[in-house]
Amino acid sequence: MIAHVDEVLSRLDRVHRTAGGWTARCPAHEDRNPSLAIAEGHDGRILVHCHRGCAASAVVAALGLSWAQFFPPRHV
Ligand SMILES: [Zn+2]
Repeated sequence: MIAHVDEVLSRLDRVHRTAGGWTARCPAHEDRNPSLAIAEGHDGRILVHCHRGCAASAVVAALGLSWAQFFPPRHV
């Protein structure tokens, strides 16, 4: 089961809609300013990127979600 982007956003603080997706406070480090970018890929995958350099896997773990919910197997 792939996590829906709304489920991810509901677990984040200071969520703001941007042209390409959303920004929010990064849950994986002490983030005073929103430095996490969230986007939804064309295939429905959720992409997360911390501008402070946190690994995406660390962000996913901090959200309490599993990596497989973000990057499902391609062969369905
Ligand atoms: Zn971070």
